[in-house]
Amino acid sequence: MWDFIIIGGGILGMSTAMQLQQTYPDKRLLVLEKEHGPAQHQSGHNSGVIHAGVYYTPGSLKARFCLEGNRATRAFCDQHGVDYVICGKLLVATDALEIQRMQALWERTAANGLEREWLSAEALKEREPNIRGEAAIYVPSSGIVDYAQVTRAMAAEFERLGGKIRYGVEVKGLEERRAEVVVSTSNDTLSSRYLVTCAGLMADRVIRMLGQKPGFTICPFRGEYYLLPEQHNHIVNHLIYPIPDPGMPFLGVHLTRMIDGRVTVGPNAVLALKREGYRKQDMSLRDIAQMLSHPG
Ligand SMILES: Cc1cc2nc3c(=O)[nH]c(=O)nc-3n(C[C@H](O)[C@H](O)[C@H](O)COP(=O)(O)OP(=O)(O)OC[C@H]3O[C@@H](n4cnc5c(N)ncnc54)[C@H](O)[C@@H]3O)c2cc1C
Repeated sequence: MWDFIIIGGGILGMSTAMQLQQTYPDKRLLVLEKEHGPAQHQSGHNSGVIHAGVYYTPGSLKARFCLEGNRATRAFCDQHGVDYVICGKLLVATDALEIQRMQALWERTAANGLEREWLSAEALKEREPNIRGEAAIYVPSSGIVDYAQVTRAMAAEFERLGGKIRYGVEVKGLEERRAEVVVSTSNDTLSSRYLVTCAGLMADRVIRMLGQKPGFTICPFRGEYYLLPEQHNHIVNHLIYPIPDPGMPFLGVHLTRMIDGRVTVGPNAVLALKREGYRKQDMSLRDIAQMLSHPG
């Protein structure tokens, strides 16, 4: 019998496993991941930004966690030799309406306790000669990192502390009993005193395995990025973001310096025909049927 089984080897699963093992060094912990390595889904397919906490409602858990997470991510990377760069971020306003929205963000960043600077058009030009704008907010604490590498370092630390990871093992069924949870996998049946699920885009399906209704629907959108040609790798010095438009709920298109020196532009948001599909031709009949049957 395991003490804790954690479903999912993305950054949430590995971080949870590592911290539980640090807190309970004598307990038997097991991570189950259906892929053949860590960070194969969202944690290995993102912009790689260490966010500063600009947008979140002051006082909310998101605002607090983002600020604390920024510091904790850097500390973890320092301890485990993971490369990161604190390059700072610019939120650029391109017209009078955006300057008005930028003012609201300026106040929000103050309420969230962020260090920031208001740049005039001239000051912006000085920092970023290739960016045109009317004004910008400069947030120095934003950075870049490879989250797949962070996840691998967490997995290594978890194993070093005595935790076990099984890759290529998919959880197929769950049954909660009085003093244990029975976990049926693609290989065998296991039992654990506690279960933590960090199943990312499959979160709702794991909830259903327990006979519960999730109360939310997962409708996958794929974020697509362009990669700038190599000769433009030095086109920007910071991460460049637009001022968010409250009418457009998706993440604004940004210029992102990656930790490997490349620069991406994106993402757009395209309805995806498969939850964990990253190419246009990726399709799952199960996922499509589920999307079509949902009134939303
Ligand atoms: C386009 C995009 C850009 C983003 N950019 C950033 C950014 O710049 N900075 C930032 O901080 N965040 C960013 N994010 C968010 C960040 O990537 C996610 O919040 C984070 O990776 C979620 O981690 P996770 O562990 O919950 O999910 P995942 O990494 O998806 O991991 C879930 C894991 O569970 C496994 N799993 C699922 N079901 C089962 C099962 N039944 N049995 C066994 N294993 C199972 C999956 O195989 C998967 O490995 C971005 C997200 C997107 C989509």
